[in-house]
Formats: sequence, C-alpha cells, structure tokens
Amino acid sequence: MTTHAPQATQAAVLPGSLDEAVAALAALPAAVPVAGGTDLMAQVNAGQLRPAALVGLGRISEIRGWQYQDGHALLGAGLTHARMGRPDFAALIPALAAASRAAGPPQIRNAGTLGGNIASAAPTNDSLPVLAALEATLVIAGPGGARREVPVSHLLAGMEMLRPGELIGFVRVPLLHAPQVFLKATGRTGPARATASVALVLDPARRGVRCAVGAIAPMPLRPLEAEQWVASLIDWDGERGALVPEAVQAFGEYVAAACIPDPEPEADGTQQQLPPAVLHLRRTVAVLARRALGRALS
Ligand SMILES: Cc1cc2nc3c(=O)[nH]c(=O)nc-3n(C[C@H](O)[C@H](O)[C@H](O)COP(=O)(O)OP(=O)(O)OC[C@H]3O[C@@H](n4cnc5c(N)ncnc54)[C@H](O)[C@@H]3O)c2cc1C
Repeated sequence: MTTHAPQATQAAVLPGSLDEAVAALAALPAAVPVAGGTDLMAQVNAGQLRPAALVGLGRISEIRGWQYQDGHALLGAGLTHARMGRPDFAALIPALAAASRAAGPPQIRNAGTLGGNIASAAPTNDSLPVLAALEATLVIAGPGGARREVPVSHLLAGMEMLRPGELIGFVRVPLLHAPQVFLKATGRTGPARATASVALVLDPARRGVRCAVGAIAPMPLRPLEAEQWVASLIDWDGERGALVPEAVQAFGEYVAAACIPDPEPEADGTQQQLPPAVLHLRRTVAVLARRALGRALS
C-alpha cells in the first residue's frame, strides 16, 4: 500500500529587480517576500507560518544602498542594520545608525533589513521610533512599475496598508544636518529588545524638535505638545545661551506623562495611581527623553 503525506508545494524565486519581484508576487499570489529572513524564518521555525512559496529580495541590488534626492536620502529597503550602523551612514542619519547598532546581536544585524523591520512592525523594532521622529515616507512598489508614497506613521497606525503584491522599495528620509539621538532601555545587559526607546531629532530649518517613543505602545508615540514647548525654549539663533537643566528635566517628564498619562479620576474625584510597573516605565521614558534632549543639545 502506498500512502501520500500531504505536502505544501515549496518554490523560491530570486528576482534581480524590484519590478521583477513585484511581478513574481503577482505570478505566485500565495508567495511571501523574504529579505534577511530573521523574522520570517523564526515564524517558520516556530511552525506559525508555512509559506507556499518565497520571493527572496536579497539579490535586488537597487534596494541595498542609498542615494540623495532633493535634500533627502532615499534608503533602499534592503539595507541591513550592519550597513546602516557604519560611520558613513551615521554621519548622514545618526539616529537611524544608532538604532541599527542596537538592533539585536551581530548575526541578526548582518542579515536583518530596514524593509523587514518596517514590514514586520513589531512595537519593539528599533528603527520605527526613528522613522516616526524623522517623519519618513515609504516608497511602495506595485504592479506595472507603479510607485506610491505613504508616511511610515500611516502604515504603522494602520491608516494605510501594503496591498497584496506590493513591496516596500525605499524609505525617504529628510537630511536634517543636526544632532539626532536614539536611546533604548532593555531588561538586561547585552543585545535585547527595548522595554522603551526614544528617538529625538533637531530640525533647525523648521525650528523643530521631533521626538518619538517606541516599544510602549503598538506604534511609536509622538508627544507633540512637549515637542512644541521645548522647541519654543531653544535658542535657535545662538543669542540666549543653553537650555537650563530644569527645562531639560521638565521635557522628560512632559514626554513621559504625555505617553503614559495618569488614569482618569473616579466619578467622586478620587485619583487612581498607576500600577508600579507602569510608573517604572514612565520614569524610564522620562529619563530616556531627558538624556536624548541633553545629548542633542550638548
Ligand atoms: C534573536 C533576534 C533578536 C532581534 N532583536 C531585535 C532588536 O533588538 N531590534 C529590532 O529592531 N529587531 C530585532 N529583531 C527583529 C529583526 O531582526 C528585524 O525586524 C529585521 O529588521 C527584520 O528584517 P528581515 O530582512 O530579516 O525581515 P524578514 O524576516 O525577511 O521579513 C520580515 C517580514 O517583512 C516582510 N518584508 C521584508 N522585506 C519586505 C519589503 N521590502 N517589502 C514588504 N515586505 C517585506 C516579510 O514578508 C516578512 O513578513 C530580532 C530578531 C531576532 C530573531
């Protein structure tokens, strides 16, 4: 007697260009794109995912580097964390380089990509608060050579989604030529996922401070009022001197309270306390935000 075990058909294609990859996804609608495979293969190994076919993005050279365009950098989605952590990239976008250097152990940073970090969109992914603070935009490739642009924050908030068969091709990031900081708190020493992270960028041309807090909510949080308040205190023309330490400290508290607010008072006016673990997280965010601003202004 012959038995036939049911087996999923496995196919893998390795296109050489972004448009070929999109065409491969159209031809194989059940296929899943894979870049570095650090997230995807972990899911496969855990038995959570069994893709019928794979479209590998690793041979697409056009998305493995970056180019300059109208005061922006157009970053290929295939840039690895290791590449973004190097000094030449750090001179360009320091906060993204710092986040890349913090993104897991070396073997993960060597394979894991910017596009994979965005598409998998885990709250603890380190590039996400940086891209939120930079107000970066995705260039999404679709069938027939189509390209459309979507703010990263829209994708992370679920306001706009990747459509079936589309790929993240590039990430458009403004070049601000000013200090930027990324800081991450973890539960242990050595490479680990963030319990909280803060990205802070200065934008002298717009006299703006932009800050995003990662890992504490499903998507990075922007404390807009705290940003505007501190931007109004900064001496952008170099006439008034440095920000006083009390203001830097108050910014940290402002950011933390905006992201982790006190509970609403009870109907009888009683103010409930946050649970100790949440209070600890709020203190962590305050410290990260204070340090990030202090370093950016030093
Ligand atoms: C042990 C370990 C530690 C880690 N630590 C960290 C950490 O500290 N910080 C951190 O940020 N991350 C961490 N990660 C997560 C991971 O390394 C990153 O999210 C990585 O950037 C994913 O990129 P990738 O190329 O490997 O994605 P893949 O695994 O190839 O893909 C991930 C998902 O994105 C999709 N995808 C990939 N590229 C594209 C594209 N161009 N367009 C559309 N969809 C796409 C895939 O279909 C898949 O659904 C860790 C992972 C592991 C296994």
